[in-house]
Amino acid sequence: MAYTVPKLKDFSAAALEKAAAKLLAALEQETAAVSNESAWKDLRDRWMARKNGVLTQVNDLWLKAAPKDAKRDVGQQVNELKKRVEQAIEAAQQDPKNAGSSSRLETDRLDITLPGIQRPIGAEHPVVKTMNEIVSVFRNLGYSVQEGPVIETDYYNFEALNFPPNHPARDAQDTLFIANQESKPQPERLLLRTHTSPVQIRTMEKIKPPIRIVIPGKVHRNDPPDASHSPMFHQIEGLAVDTNITFGDLKGTLDHAMKALFGSSVKTHFRPSFFPFTEPSAEMMVSCFICGGSGKRGSQPCRPCKSTGWIEILGCGMVDPNVFEFVKDNGYDPRKVSGFAFGMGADRVALLKYGVDDIQLFFQGDVRFLRQFA
Ligand SMILES: [Zn+2]
Repeated sequence: MAYTVPKLKDFSAAALEKAAAKLLAALEQETAAVSNESAWKDLRDRWMARKNGVLTQVNDLWLKAAPKDAKRDVGQQVNELKKRVEQAIEAAQQDPKNAGSSSRLETDRLDITLPGIQRPIGAEHPVVKTMNEIVSVFRNLGYSVQEGPVIETDYYNFEALNFPPNHPARDAQDTLFIANQESKPQPERLLLRTHTSPVQIRTMEKIKPPIRIVIPGKVHRNDPPDASHSPMFHQIEGLAVDTNITFGDLKGTLDHAMKALFGSSVKTHFRPSFFPFTEPSAEMMVSCFICGGSGKRGSQPCRPCKSTGWIEILGCGMVDPNVFEFVKDNGYDPRKVSGFAFGMGADRVALLKYGVDDIQLFFQGDVRFLRQFA
């Protein structure tokens, strides 16, 4: 017969003691009878449920019903009982036979025979990898790395680089401008930088000559995407400024860099060109490292060099004295210093290096494609 909480008539210490002993004896009997998890839950609910649990009844029938002068003693007795009941029921839960699936023992169980969790390790993107390789070639020559904002002002992207106001590169057909800038004066209008060259000016404003820097970074142009164009691509530029820097230094440095990147047998060749911020300017070609300069692969024409045996790889030149005029106050007096600059498309180098024929593949994020370079 299950225990029920009796109504008390006598609230004396002795009577309370007796009632409490009965309750505890019943508790002991009931906890001992529990043999599985669901029985334990029933026991817990029977004794501790807020609504009509044994403890609630004790509270109602003993404490609340007690006369004023006995309340203190009854209260102490009831608190003591509460503690004992809670302890007993908790102890019953720890008993392995009542543990069930929710016990800590069960949930913390570790099956060391299961295969481990594989965490795939990422790898460098082929373009990033190529940029790092190019950067490290110049680092070994004593160059340091500089970076700058991708959103630039017209001043740094064009004006300070000697682009005349109506140069075609300023046309919205080539440049992506930030909207609603018309109220600002031209030099302050924002755009997505079209080359990494603004960092040359920013660096010369900060650091006095001599400097030797490489600038890797993302640039944007209003080009519709196709196999060889992307509205977003990557450049690496370099700049060396010192006293007595000559075109011979430029040729020697770049020839060394190309041999370090593509193999010691590549030859370099310079062809006159034009850029607003260098004078004289040149395009540099390297002998095709795919066909060895022959223009042929077996009996087939070599596609990367279009059968010419040469690949156009970068633009370069001696820094135009007009560019130094913009940073003259920081020690770049065009009568005292000279320098050379060069820039190449990192994506294009990656395309050639890995024999990829569509630049879009680099930016589509297809892991099956990218995994090949890991
Ligand atoms: Zn070739």
